[in-house]
Order: sequence, then C-alpha cells, then structure tokens
Amino acid sequence: MSRTVAFIGAGNMARSIISGLVASGYPAAQIIAANPSQGKLDALASEFGVQTTNDNLAACEQAEVIVLGVKPQLMAQVCAPIAELDLSGKLALSIAAGVTCDSLQSYLGSDVALVRTMPNTPSLLGLGLTGLYAPAGVSQVDRDFATELMAAVGETLWLEQEAQIDQVIACAGSSPAYFFLFMEAMEQAAEKMGVTQADARLMIQQAALGAAEMVKHNPQLSLAELRAQVTSKGGTTAKAIETFEQQGLRNSVADAMNAAVERAQQMA
Ligand code: NAD
Repeated sequence: MSRTVAFIGAGNMARSIISGLVASGYPAAQIIAANPSQGKLDALASEFGVQTTNDNLAACEQAEVIVLGVKPQLMAQVCAPIAELDLSGKLALSIAAGVTCDSLQSYLGSDVALVRTMPNTPSLLGLGLTGLYAPAGVSQVDRDFATELMAAVGETLWLEQEAQIDQVIACAGSSPAYFFLFMEAMEQAAEKMGVTQADARLMIQQAALGAAEMVKHNPQLSLAELRAQVTSKGGTTAKAIETFEQQGLRNSVADAMNAAVERAQQMA
C-alpha cells in the first residue's frame, strides 16, 4: 500500500515530484501539499487532485513520509514545530541543497528516519539526476521509498558517504550550466561566422540533445569510443577536437569541477 506523503513547501521542485508521482500512478489522495500561499495550493489541487493545506503540522501528522521542500535557509525554522510531533516510524526526506544530515537530525530529533537528496534542475522537466544519502540504520524499505519518490523526476544514484553529495553537485547539480556555457560559446562562434542566432541555437540544441541520447542509448560504448565513431581521421571533427585538446579543455573542465567541490565543502 502507498504511504501518505506530505510535501512541506510546495514550490517548483515539490511540484515536479508530485507531477511525476501522479503520472506514474501514485494515488493523489495520498499526497498532501503544504504551503503558505493558497494560489499554489489551488493550482496543485486542480492539476493533480492532491490534498492541500497551509498547516504544516496537520500535514506531517497525517503523513508517514515528510518531504522537506523549503529553501535551505528556512529549514531550521520550518522543522522546529514539526520536531514537537511524534515522528517515530516516519521518514523525512530533504531536497534542500547544503543541509546536512547532522543538521536535519538536530532540527527534527532522532526518532525520524532521514534521507538527504540532491536533485538537479532538469528534474523540473523529469530529466533530472538525484543523489541520495541515508545514515546507517535507515531501513531498506525507507531507502526504496526514497528511490521511488525521486525516480518521479529522473535517474537516482545512491551514495555510500554523505561527502559524495559534493561530487554530485560538481557532476550533476552545477553541470547543466557547464553545458549552457559550452553551447553559448558555440552560438557566439556561429554568429561570428554569419549564422543567425536562431539558426545557431536550433543546430546546437539538436546536436546537444542528439549527443546525450546517443550516450544514453549506447551504454556499451565508452565516451571516447562514441567520439572516435564520429571523428574520421583527417576530417573536420578531428581538426576541431585537436584544437580543443591543444587549448587544454580537459584541464579546464577538471579545474572547474574541483572548484565546484571546494565551494560545496565551504558552504556545508
Ligand atoms: P521554491 O521557492 O519554488 O519552493 C519553496 C516553497 O516553500 C515555496 O512554495 C514557498 O512558498 C514554500 N514555503 C516557504 N515558507 C514555508 C513554510 N514556512 N512552510 C511551508 N512552505 C513554505 O524553491 P524550489 O526551487 O522548489 O526549491 C526547494 C528546495 O529544493 C530548496 O531547498 C532547494 O535547495 C532544493 N533544490 C532545488 C533545485 C531546483 O532546481 N529548483 C535543485 C536542487 C535542490
């Protein structure tokens, strides 16, 4: 039987998870969205048929699973009254960036089972990647339920250690922006060649989408093999790749990802 899930903070990310859950057949009657603004609640109720309330505590009391979907800076304040409830046997899953399990446990007490997740922005389109971490002692049933929840917005990846969340940030959380930067640079170069911005954007978008799909559909091939397959010796692609390599693209990427990890460590 499905468990009742309360979303505390029904903003963009919670809405996406709710949308994915309902689309995958999760019973809407067992989803409660709690948020201060009535407008968001009315929209969620009419679009997905979920229960809504502006009373966080009533939602948490009814639910077996509490999804903490508020902004990180509000987490302590939002959790304080929830911690007064009897949370034994309940699972709390946080989607907030940068709020550690130790912090969550100190806000909510030790009766609740905790899962910390790190979704990325493409989750808003159902094309996300979520890193998940749970402290030792969290049951397999709770871990499986957390996987089911986050699979509603994309792929899931369980982590052995909480520190690996910083690697998820460098590889998946921050990385959509790396691809945007690369595409932006391509668009600028195309415009300098005389291509219109609209044409350049369309070509680059389709190349990026197609490349990602080729990676996804050929798991048996390494990325280097995929690249070799589209790079004829002495051809145009070979010349372009040689130029990237000479300019040190790999080192730039490694430095950028290490810088993201360092920043995540400073912010934790
Ligand atoms: P959002 O601002 O859209 O949603 C937050 C919601 O919390 C809002 O609807 C707000 O009205 C509500 N809220 C504020 N105070 C509240 C209270 N006291 N009780 C209940 N609800 C309250 O933000 P979002 O983009 O959905 O992000 C939510 C969380 O997800 C954040 O912690 C963020 O770090 C995390 N996250 C978001 C993304 C993303 O791409 N949007 C990616 C990774 C992680």
